[in-house]
Amino acid sequence: MLRRDYAERDYLIKFLTAEFGKKMFLVRGAKKRGYKMAADILPFTIGEYVGDISDDGLSYIRSARDTTQFLGISTDIFKNAYATYIMSLIDLAFPDGQPVGQWYELVARALELIDQDQNPAIITNVIELQLLPTFGVAQEWRQCAVCGRTDLPFDYSESYGGLLCQAHWSLDPHRLHLDARTIFFLRQLSAVNLNQVGHIDIKPATQKNLRRVLDLIYNNAVGVHPKAKRFIDQMASWEGRLKKK
Ligand SMILES: [Zn+2]
Repeated sequence: MLRRDYAERDYLIKFLTAEFGKKMFLVRGAKKRGYKMAADILPFTIGEYVGDISDDGLSYIRSARDTTQFLGISTDIFKNAYATYIMSLIDLAFPDGQPVGQWYELVARALELIDQDQNPAIITNVIELQLLPTFGVAQEWRQCAVCGRTDLPFDYSESYGGLLCQAHWSLDPHRLHLDARTIFFLRQLSAVNLNQVGHIDIKPATQKNLRRVLDLIYNNAVGVHPKAKRFIDQMASWEGRLKKK
């Protein structure tokens, strides 16, 4: 959820809900000392909320129960950056007030995995890959985008919007020349069910390649640059600097 100040004592908070998709709620008196739902409305909290829903005017939250804050995400700057980026992508992908279907569960699961020490970069890659159809730029990761073959080595082609088999590599002089391991994970992560996922281990070099492919797709085809993503890019450059020393 996104929190914003509203009037002296109130917060305006954007929730991702299972029923109504993203929705802005006014939480009255939330800034008063001793406010009884103070813990329920912290960022990265999940739970059941009761309130009044209005389609055109303001909606209100009245009470909450069974709320849990993702503590790992709230206290770790790296986890927080990736979780914030995932929420920004969801915010950009869906209009407010429109149900998001399976994405409510998927986001909740992604946050849970990041909270529990799964590699946040990899979980973020899964969300980025699986959100592409919602952004209207579905990529072909199952088979060759030209002939449908699956038995030859693949490469990724931006202009064909997906994989090209070796027989069709000549069609795109700008294909990415990706190694087999990166292709393997692009195919796996684009189809993986986060509810069934155990620990995913991917070598740093391959993670870097996945980041490169997704940056290309998100910069060129999707065309969104959330602020949270720029922060992740900065963190990557700090890591590079730390390692050089
Ligand atoms: Zn082909």
